[in-house]
Amino acid sequence: SKARVVVVGGGYGGATTAKYIRLLSGHKIDVVLVEPNDAFVSCPLSNLVLGGSRQIADVTTPYTGLSRNHGVTVVKDMVAAIDTAGKNVRLASGPVIAYDKLVVSPGIDLLFNSIEGSQAAQASGQILQAWKAGPETVALRRQLEAMPDGGVYALTIPEQPFRCPPGPYERACQVAWYFKQAKPRSKVLILDANPDVVSKAGLFKKVWAEQYRGIVEYRPQHKTTAVDARNGVVKFEVQEDVKAAVINALPSMRAGAIAVQAGLNNLANNRWCGVDYQTFESTVAKDVHVLGDSIQIAPGMPKSGHMANSHGKVAAAAIVAQLSGWAVNPAPMLTNTCYSFVDDKNVVHVASVHEYVAAEKTFKTVAGSGGLSPGPTELEGAYANNWARNIWSDTLA
Ligand code: FAD
Repeated sequence: SKARVVVVGGGYGGATTAKYIRLLSGHKIDVVLVEPNDAFVSCPLSNLVLGGSRQIADVTTPYTGLSRNHGVTVVKDMVAAIDTAGKNVRLASGPVIAYDKLVVSPGIDLLFNSIEGSQAAQASGQILQAWKAGPETVALRRQLEAMPDGGVYALTIPEQPFRCPPGPYERACQVAWYFKQAKPRSKVLILDANPDVVSKAGLFKKVWAEQYRGIVEYRPQHKTTAVDARNGVVKFEVQEDVKAAVINALPSMRAGAIAVQAGLNNLANNRWCGVDYQTFESTVAKDVHVLGDSIQIAPGMPKSGHMANSHGKVAAAAIVAQLSGWAVNPAPMLTNTCYSFVDDKNVVHVASVHEYVAAEKTFKTVAGSGGLSPGPTELEGAYANNWARNIWSDTLA
């Protein structure tokens, strides 16, 4: 009988792996993808929904390409439990599915207990994170639209590592772009737990000083400890409280809940999952491959959709090789490009290439392989839009 791979999560990592296992095995391996959402909603470009130049439908792609074009069995459900000893998963609706190989790419879990009051504020819809694109992105946009001119939008950023290092700073630009047109007396206040802007610092700071002068204010070393939704107050470890009309609080993050439930989160105070970087196989569970934002990353490897897509191809090739009795690629490579829109058209990027160094069992950034934009341009805006179309097609079509 055919080997079966079960994939948990149809995001950048999981959907890519599902498709590429089908392609690389010549359809000889069955793939079952379990994902609760009706369609794939991209976090990349979702900040533009907050800026108002895109709608959520523009960043949404159906899963039908995977089933129709590649014969992936897409099951709309949650994986409720993983039995790594018995090699099966149990779905929330009840059925148990056995696997020969399991791929776990559930993204991130938000640690609301890192910010007192944030869980209740989130549940009541008063304070949102919108760090998983979808209905919350739209709800946060509505809060910005409802905010009076002259109000403050406060964005709190946790200590790294978190999903998408440039993401919060791109978001600040998008909200500032909206305010500049629609409510120019309003402010974007960035409250960052880190000592400096985590990614593309020089580029973002220049944009804030020039294009968004008087709108964006950046405060480093501001570790948010609590939010008071009723009074619109953010509290810090050290500094004085801040009042804001709209609070967008990003809590600390860790591996997706199902990875934690399965005990795959063995590193960094149990926040992230350790993997053998040559195959993305878990270091604690045989035949379980973990990828995307859930893994412990080597220095220089961002938690990005582009990286998760790249992990997916390496993992798919390793899984197909292992199930077919072929040698595993001894030297996999990963690539990354993260584009950030500073307004509706102008974009900056950071890029890198990472090679597997067998002697050290880790990925290392290839010297001179990447770099940063000199400054925002519309040409890079065109590249960014095409990057998105390409990666959605590569992952899902
Ligand atoms: P995801 O893509 O989040 O996929 C996880 C999937 O697993 C989800 O669909 C979820 O529903 C599913 N799932 C979870 N638990 C279960 C379960 N128990 N059973 C079944 N399914 C489950 N990256 C870039 O490369 N470029 C960018 O420009 C960029 N911009 C970003 C902007 C923002 C605002 C944000 C928040 C992120 C951005 N990122 C960007 C980062 C990117 O979104 C993530 O790194 C990427 O989504 C990680 O892929 P993943 O497969 O690990 O997780």
